[in-house]
Order: sequence, then structure tokens, then C-alpha cells
Amino acid sequence: MNVGGGIPLERVYLYSEPRCQSLHVEEIARYLRDNLGERVEVIEREDFWATTLRHMQRGEIEAVGLKWAQSRVLDPASHVVSRQPLPQEVIYEVKRLTDTGSRAWGILYDAWEVVKIALDLLPIAERSLRNLHVLFTNQLIATWEALEGRYHAMVAAFALPCVISTTGIAVAPARDRGWYALKYLLGRGLEEVGLAFDEINRLEVDDEKLTEVCKGLVLQCVFYHLTGNPFCDDHSCRLYNAHWQREMVYAQLRPGACLCKRHRQMLQQAVARWSTGRTVVETG
Ligand SMILES: [Zn+2]
Repeated sequence: MNVGGGIPLERVYLYSEPRCQSLHVEEIARYLRDNLGERVEVIEREDFWATTLRHMQRGEIEAVGLKWAQSRVLDPASHVVSRQPLPQEVIYEVKRLTDTGSRAWGILYDAWEVVKIALDLLPIAERSLRNLHVLFTNQLIATWEALEGRYHAMVAAFALPCVISTTGIAVAPARDRGWYALKYLLGRGLEEVGLAFDEINRLEVDDEKLTEVCKGLVLQCVFYHLTGNPFCDDHSCRLYNAHWQREMVYAQLRPGACLCKRHRQMLQQAVARWSTGRTVVETG
């Protein structure tokens, strides 16, 4: 594995989500600065959507709202097909995207479609392998699992940019029950989602422990950027891909939660390489 090879990481952009009050991006930024060395610049930015849309014309804003509306998963048991949303749906999306005071959530979106919308809006100059972009959203994202023939709510989509769902942290890591909860809640109103889980130490939507969990999730984004693989099999590593709330609590919230020895070493090697400013010439 060519850790730290290729193009060095120079900047991490963290986009806040003011619609999730318990998310403290500045604390995550400090954690990253402590772990990535001084050669990597960690840049805190305001909410991606409201900030980006603020500089657009009305027609462009509505085009973004239309894409979000088209990304809605109306039925978790059927793959999203391109459809023409109702005008009210587009109006709802524009309002949600531009209003940072909105707490509304409860609609499921196709994660890769959301990634595509965000990528199209990233400044071209910043779409570089030297940059890692991490967007937080309070909306639920899901990926289509073809073998199972259904969508799964997920915590994070690793791509350019990476998207982390703060609501997904509370909802997604409980695969089977998450599915039944979604089925139930899509019919009944997702605001009741907290009632669907009874596990000890569960995380609630907009939980005060969210920021600590997000430190580990952003490290997963860093390893995705470095190696293409954000995850680790060691359940005590912050890169562990938790399928259950109790697994996430153990990996991210137990006292002294950290990377496993192997990933600690991998990160140290990468940081040392970035610090010397050495780049490996890519071939092929
Ligand atoms: Zn590990």
C-alpha cells in the first residue's frame, strides 16, 4: 500500500452544518491539526450549501434544488430512477438549503447523487488530490445495495467530496433494525426515529457526543484519501466500520479511543513524508 505516496495532502476543508447544533467543527479541526502535522492546512468553512447558493442566480439555485429533489429516495425498496419532482418539492429543497436555521430532516437521499451535486459546485481550482473536502449534512443519505435490493441509510459517503450525515450517525448503524425503522418512519414521519432504537448508549439525533464521533469519521475520510480504504477490521480502531450503535460507541467514544497500532503507524509515516515535502513520482 502506497501510504503517503503520490500527491501529498495539503489541505483539508471542513464544512460546518449549522442545522446540527451539537456539531462543533472547530473542535474537529483542532483534532485534525494535532494528528496531521503542521504541513497540512485544516480550513474551516461555513455551511457548504447556503454559502455556495448565496452567490448564485435564482435559476441556478433552483437547478440545485431540482437535483436534490430528484435524489430523494421515495421507496427504500426501489432504486432511484430519474423523475420529475413536483414544484413544491423543489421549493422545499431550496428553502432547506438556504436556511441554516432549518432543523428539518426526514427525507432519505441517494448518497452518490448528493456527492455529484456537491462535486459540481466545488470550485474547479480546489478539485485536486492535494485537497480533502468533508461536508457535514443533517440530512439522511443512503446507498442502494443491489444484492439485497434495498437502500441502506449510511453514516458517510467516501468520495470527492466526502459527505458525513450527522443524522445518519444516530440512525444508520443498526442495519436490520435501521431498515425496519426507515420503512416505518418513511410512512409515519422520521422525527420519531429516536423511538425506534433501544440500545444502551445509543446516540440520539443531534447528540452532544456527535463531535467526538465525527473526529473518527473524518479520520476515515483521511484514510480514504490516502489509501482508498477508509475502514479497519479492528473493532477498537477509529476506522472500524460500525454496523451497530454499540460498535460505534466503543470505537469512537470509549475513553482513549484511537487508531489501532497499524493505522497509527501508517498515519505517522504519511505525516513524516508530507513534512519532508517529498513526493513520489507516479508512473503509468
Ligand atoms: Zn485500524
